[in-house]
Amino acid sequence: MELRVLSLYPEQMNIYADRGNIVFLQRRCEWRGIGFSHSGAGPGDPVDPAAHDLFYIGGGQDRDQRMVAADMVTSKREALAAAVDDGAALLAVCGGYQLLGHSYQLDDEKLPGLGLADLETVREPGPRLIGNIAIEAELGSGPRLLAGFENHGGRTYLGSGARPLGRVVEGRGNNGRDGYEGVHRDNLIGTYLHGPLLPKNAWLADHLITLALERRYGARPQLEPLDDAFENAAHESARAAAGV
Ligand code: GLN
Repeated sequence: MELRVLSLYPEQMNIYADRGNIVFLQRRCEWRGIGFSHSGAGPGDPVDPAAHDLFYIGGGQDRDQRMVAADMVTSKREALAAAVDDGAALLAVCGGYQLLGHSYQLDDEKLPGLGLADLETVREPGPRLIGNIAIEAELGSGPRLLAGFENHGGRTYLGSGARPLGRVVEGRGNNGRDGYEGVHRDNLIGTYLHGPLLPKNAWLADHLITLALERRYGARPQLEPLDDAFENAAHESARAAAGV
């Protein structure tokens, strides 16, 4: 078996350990004897929806998002929508998460989004939403805690067709008001938890690996358990930082 990962705009959309999230996926595959391949798709590059099973869009500052938003819609939207409809997993973090929605409104400029999730992001007056965060995520197997760090100026509002990734336990979440964090639809996940999201939440990494392998090989694999002493310690420490 092989996990096939594609990072979108790894040069532009890549802050706060996005590359580390990919390395973490790689290690968890290697430790289990599962193959791993990773490639990137930059501006103008076409995407083959059948060639990869896990798509990753990292964080980005407003100026990075300005550079990629229109290109992402014209050169990648159709392929991403087809891949997600076909069962591929997609993880979008922070700036990438914002671009999953319909648009990102920045003052008088509106960046187009992929429209893969029913949400909109607006840069409103007010402070950035920064700090440690813990959410209770619901991904089908009962609620589980995700702990991490958020840092965003944009506020995200889910439309009636969208479900959040989880409920904020501590922190600000999508907009600091409605108590929701992220978005979740089938195998698509968007979240503001960036930095080393996956190393701090190894179960989410394994969840994504499972979904991606299931899409490729047709059956849901039973991943071999690993010695997660360091990962558990990282999770505990991130929870404690959030006060949970
Ligand atoms: N540029 C976006 C914002 O500030 C996302 C930031 C990020 O990815 N850290 O809202």
